[in-house]
Amino acid sequence: MKEHISVVIKPTLACDLDCRHCYHTPAERVPGTVSSDKLDRLFRMVAEEYESAWFIWHGGEPLTLPLRFYKDALALQERHFGKGSHRVGNTIQTNGTAIDRRFADFCRDKKVNLGISFEGPFNDALRQETDRVDRNLSYLSRKEHVFSVNPTVSAATVSKQREMYRHFRDRGIDVCFSPVLPMGCAAEDRSLVPDADEYIAESIRMFDEWLFDEEAEIPLIPHYLYLLNALGERVESDCAHSSCLGKWLCMHPDGSLYPCAKRCPEEFLMGNLDDIGRIGDAFASEGFRRILAGTVARREKCRSECDLYEYCTGECSINACYECGLESNGGDSCRIFREVFGHILGVCEGILRDRPDLSVYNKYVRDAVVGRLVNPLAEVTVPRG
Ligand code: SF4
Ligand code: SF4
Repeated sequence: MKEHISVVIKPTLACDLDCRHCYHTPAERVPGTVSSDKLDRLFRMVAEEYESAWFIWHGGEPLTLPLRFYKDALALQERHFGKGSHRVGNTIQTNGTAIDRRFADFCRDKKVNLGISFEGPFNDALRQETDRVDRNLSYLSRKEHVFSVNPTVSAATVSKQREMYRHFRDRGIDVCFSPVLPMGCAAEDRSLVPDADEYIAESIRMFDEWLFDEEAEIPLIPHYLYLLNALGERVESDCAHSSCLGKWLCMHPDGSLYPCAKRCPEEFLMGNLDDIGRIGDAFASEGFRRILAGTVARREKCRSECDLYEYCTGECSINACYECGLESNGGDSCRIFREVFGHILGVCEGILRDRPDLSVYNKYVRDAVVGRLVNPLAEVTVPRG
């Protein structure tokens, strides 16, 4: 049995919003729901081949489907993994418009993680229904439901990252930032994609503010993950800098399988669930061979050229595909990582070298540094040039 797999399920591509940067074009966001037969087949195969699995319900907007759908889906999961099994977990990634008391209680009862795509006071730059989502978030916070927010930074909000951070910090909501990527709708309107240099500068300013923010009750992501890695604690980094090929799978409502939840080029199609006997067949497909071959070529370049390779693992292949080509590095995602991670690595090296008074840092940084000092790991190395 293999150890673990993350499976993104897009139960529908339909959506009640029309975000300007969506991975899926309006023509693709059509009604249609994954069948329970497909879910049954998927859960059976995953349970037979993997010791554990995490399912991420994505879309489209997953909550355009009724609560009944998720009750039935999780009952099917229980049938294959066992009731209350620790082998399986779920996250629902939603735009937040349809969250209500019943749904929130269901998530709490079933230990389903909730991720909400929302930019707080700057939400209108990309999306609609800002007040409604804000009310739903306030409800979740009041009732002490656990959830996180994933703001997407566009050209219009690139200088607003610190304001977004403060907005969610003041509400005690965990937050994970990422830029608009030039795929799907944003491939057709590149004016939405933030300038990489502006993104880098503001992202570093935001990190520096969080670093010394005594009121920080939230871990700023991905910066906190970068900091842990920079201090030598090897944790799974953000989506764009984890070595995910072979460990992630995405299924669309019609059963099509892809290596990633982002907008994948058709050349990476890994077949259809109905046509395979086991999950391993999808990873033996021509589509997966193509993305793997291009990724290996890019990583070879990264390995020989870049002193951050061990932290970046050659970045996300789908990002590279749209930014500079599958086999190339040096696109915006690569530049952003080099600068932001490089800054954080330099900060960590300075702290470990100079041993300053740790009380000036937020509690996440203090704990991480103390952990590093009592448990010295590999030397922290600062990138050259
Ligand atoms: S980004 Fe998400 S919420 Fe927005 S239109 Fe696309 S699927 Fe809907
Ligand atoms: S930062 Fe860029 S060059 Fe370095 S490993 Fe990542 S993608 Fe490759």
